[in-house]
Amino acid sequence: MINVPELFGSMVFNEAVMKERLPEAVYREFLKTLEEGKELDISLANVIAGAMKDWALEKGATHFTHWFQPLTGATSEKHDALITPQKDGTVIMEFSGKELVRGESDASSFPSGGLRATCEARGYTVWDPTSYAFIKDGCLCIPTAFCSYGGEALDKKTPLLRSMEAISAQAVRVLKLFGHKDVKSVKTTVGPEQEYFLVDKDVFDKRKDLIYAGRTLFGAQPPKGQDMEGHYFGIIKPRVQAFMKELNEELWKLGVPAKTEHNETAPAQHETAPVFATANIATDHNQLTMELLQKIARKHGMVCLLHEKPFNGVNGSGKHNNWSVCTDTGINLLEPGDTPKENAQFLLFFCAVIKAVDEYQDLLRISVASAGNDLRLGANEAPPAIVSMFIGEDLEDILKAIASGTALDTKAVEQLKVGVHVLPKIPRDTSDRNRTSPFAFTGNKFEFRMLGSSESAACTNIMLNTAVAESLRVFADRLEKAADFKKELDAIIKDVVNKNGRIIFNGNGYGEEWVKEAERRGLLNLKTMPDAYPHYLDEKNKKLFARHGVLSESEMHARFEIGMEHYCKTIKIEALTMINMTEKEILPAVSRFEKDLAETVINKRAADKTADCAYETFVLKELSALTGRALDSVQRLKSLVRDAENVAGITPQAQFYRDRILPEMENLRASCDRMEEKTAKDYWPFPSYGDLLYSVK
Ligand code: ADP
Ligand code: MG
Repeated sequence: MINVPELFGSMVFNEAVMKERLPEAVYREFLKTLEEGKELDISLANVIAGAMKDWALEKGATHFTHWFQPLTGATSEKHDALITPQKDGTVIMEFSGKELVRGESDASSFPSGGLRATCEARGYTVWDPTSYAFIKDGCLCIPTAFCSYGGEALDKKTPLLRSMEAISAQAVRVLKLFGHKDVKSVKTTVGPEQEYFLVDKDVFDKRKDLIYAGRTLFGAQPPKGQDMEGHYFGIIKPRVQAFMKELNEELWKLGVPAKTEHNETAPAQHETAPVFATANIATDHNQLTMELLQKIARKHGMVCLLHEKPFNGVNGSGKHNNWSVCTDTGINLLEPGDTPKENAQFLLFFCAVIKAVDEYQDLLRISVASAGNDLRLGANEAPPAIVSMFIGEDLEDILKAIASGTALDTKAVEQLKVGVHVLPKIPRDTSDRNRTSPFAFTGNKFEFRMLGSSESAACTNIMLNTAVAESLRVFADRLEKAADFKKELDAIIKDVVNKNGRIIFNGNGYGEEWVKEAERRGLLNLKTMPDAYPHYLDEKNKKLFARHGVLSESEMHARFEIGMEHYCKTIKIEALTMINMTEKEILPAVSRFEKDLAETVINKRAADKTADCAYETFVLKELSALTGRALDSVQRLKSLVRDAENVAGITPQAQFYRDRILPEMENLRASCDRMEEKTAKDYWPFPSYGDLLYSVK
């Protein structure tokens, strides 16, 4: 039997460990520094580093690393041994405060989007002391932010921390007006639900598309896909169960509060979700979760696919970003309250989110844009590329009543006053959960469902925090100046309903009707990454990030460039993989099958001139036509990939990949998938969809 409380956090240098191992005064001073968000004094850092080293050695660590999240989307670590050589040929184990708080890193091989001149290849990493150090594979990992020498952010953590400060500052202003003089800061809380697929490693290894692109680029539909819908919440197979057990244990050791696990809709699809945590910690934990999913799957002879759309015609994988705001005194600001005052405050924060999501729908869309997620959004398992909000009918009625100045139809039990209106008690749980909405209020938090499964949660939370900070700034400006607080509050809610109400949609987000209705409402429908990304550089967005000190103009430029380059590279790799698989595997295999068919016809006819060769001649004719078409596609694709290199400008280049290369890839796939249907199984060069989706027994 495992002792979970003992296991949990056993590889983490958390507050409990610090309290036990640090001198009392140092521990207190450290907590104070954290609370005030100040820089750590070096003498303090030295003591902490010493204690951290002793603890790490006891746990078997030999190395340390500054663990950070560059703009590639993965995490990075460069290991340094904890040794210091001595004059007498021996070593001692050392770790200094300087090494703990700051590291130098050769940044030249990380994408910088032009932020770092080539002559200044170095960047530096700085400890984020709010996210605990931990030991992974014998290495003490220090969660850090990664910057250039000019101080520009080269990672995802830096702007996330800045955005958390921005929303905290503005929320505290608003809370003061509601009489919360004791609140010093607020934190955004995040609980990311993570979807993934598991396939058998032997089957995976036979598919170059999975190896190079992480998704299938070919594959005819199997007789049984997810039509029966028996997998969702179904019984977990023993092999998957064993994997989940080890995954949970490893996550718990690292202090990741993994909580929920279940089968998802598609065959071979699963989900894991933790208990929510502060945004930066939840983001770090999600990165660790993605890493462990992949590592532990391999140990169990499986491969974890984190791609947004590994299989055509089968549900893709997303990441649901559950998000709320909580004060340092423990109040969830998106929890409807029991008293009129609490509810007025709840409605104001609620309206801040509505305003933010409407006015910065482009940024939210950008935060989930990737070549992989383009394949998922708008398919029938995920929200469309249009950002909208589900708030439930009760809350919509309340907001509308305030906006129109009418008293609400008081069918509800209790009545409460908000501003000058009489309103019913706000329901605690909007039980009518709408699964088709990209951004849904789920009782005391919002759930943003557009994120792709492989994407870092950082970007979405940077956008959300900053956009909501801006709403709160506007509200605080108005309320601080107002002569009549209640009246102004009412006016703010009215303004939000009138100006931003269009973003609210409680209906079916998957329907064709909604696409038309959204267009009538003037909502953006940014279908692909090259549609969405250029909005990064819109004036209003530059102004937003500059005002709240989250991203400078050059940092935004860099992120835009890196994202678009990544998009182009992804599609290029996919196109080259398709060319390779068609030329080296599919066409030769089909050709062998054709040869055998042709020989059969010859042999049959030699024995009997009038022999019936209907099957052979029919298939031969079909396959000859299809191989011809596939060959043409391959030739066109090759020349298009060459042409793409010569397109000037990153946006036109991304558009070229989308408009010219992706459709040709689809043509090629269509020909090959039809060949797969016509070719005998033993000739087909790699495992089919059926083999993949039912590979884990
Ligand atoms: P589902 O959406 O599948 O019904 P739940 O509503 O139980 O699941 O929760 C999903 C996730 O939301 C969990 O990770 C949970 O910890 C997280 N969550 C719950 N409350 C909050 C909150 N206040 N802030 C952020 N995340 C939260
Ligand atoms: Mg959910």
